[in-house]
Amino acid sequence: MLLDVKDMSLSLKREGKYIRILDQISFHVNEGETIGIVGESGCGKSMTALSLMRLLPDKARLEGKVVLQGDEITSFSKRKLEKVRGNQMSMIFQNPLTSLNPLQTVGIQIEESIILHTKMGKQQRRKRVLQLLNEVGLPRSEELIDDYPHQLSGGMRQRIMIAMAMACEPQLLICDEPTTALDVTVQAQILELMNEIKKETQMGIIMITHDMGVIAEVCDRVIVMYAGKIVEEAPVIELFLNPKHPYTLGLLDSIPKMGIRKQKLGSIPGTVPSPEKMPTGCRFVDRCSHAMDQCRNTLPEMIEINENHYTACWLYDEEVNKSGSIGSQKPETAFHY
Ligand code: SF4
Repeated sequence: MLLDVKDMSLSLKREGKYIRILDQISFHVNEGETIGIVGESGCGKSMTALSLMRLLPDKARLEGKVVLQGDEITSFSKRKLEKVRGNQMSMIFQNPLTSLNPLQTVGIQIEESIILHTKMGKQQRRKRVLQLLNEVGLPRSEELIDDYPHQLSGGMRQRIMIAMAMACEPQLLICDEPTTALDVTVQAQILELMNEIKKETQMGIIMITHDMGVIAEVCDRVIVMYAGKIVEEAPVIELFLNPKHPYTLGLLDSIPKMGIRKQKLGSIPGTVPSPEKMPTGCRFVDRCSHAMDQCRNTLPEMIEINENHYTACWLYDEEVNKSGSIGSQKPETAFHY
């Protein structure tokens, strides 16, 4: 196993009080596997990524265990962690324009982590940067190496970000909405590039997105997050064909289906609750059309649907089913894509 996250919780200090943003997140990533983390804005996807990288404000309180290639990095000092970031694990951010330094050439920016993590000489580093530019599909690498970010298109800038993240051949790559700021054709090219990189390097990828299309394109397994908790986890095909949690069903219902003309897209009423006003029971209760009394009072644990498929919803609890309180409440889960 490449990455093992156990009961990771994050609290941030707001107006003198600690507010829990992530609540006991557990998941793992294997070598050569792409895990998708999906959910609306405010569900905790990006905070999960930033917690893994420990790019958090000073007063943040991070609990639980994060084990990367056998090392429990949660206990690492800042200095020790700097040796891991950009080396064993790297991150690609959402907007390449704001993530790149406008005052430095792209060559210098890609070279930065090579200087930090390797003992390569100047010539060797230049050779490596040119190789990386070619690997991410950028032509004219000899000229491009001395260009500034503003001279490049959005797609080229995102390829530069990928080259920077790949510079030291990380085992784990975290991508936070890497295609959101790009137009659809460039999005498709970047996703294809990600798939190629995965095949060639066998690294593990965490793909954070709100886009089910991106999930279908690149992921092997999917984690659905809602209000700082994981509510469903399944292999990608299983999730699309046999979704269980009403929130996952809502997300899938909001995307167009193949071959159906004039379809009405669904939407989930309401918004994600704020961390300060989290319901005591199921966090989705105020937006769920299947909610029962039990949902309001008690938070559901993860329930096994099958060997690889889990969901946190009372509708699938054996005892609740036996008691007959569900009746005809269970959602329709047959999806056709
Ligand atoms: Fe809906 Fe209850 Fe399931 Fe929550 S536990 S998703 S409120 S049915």
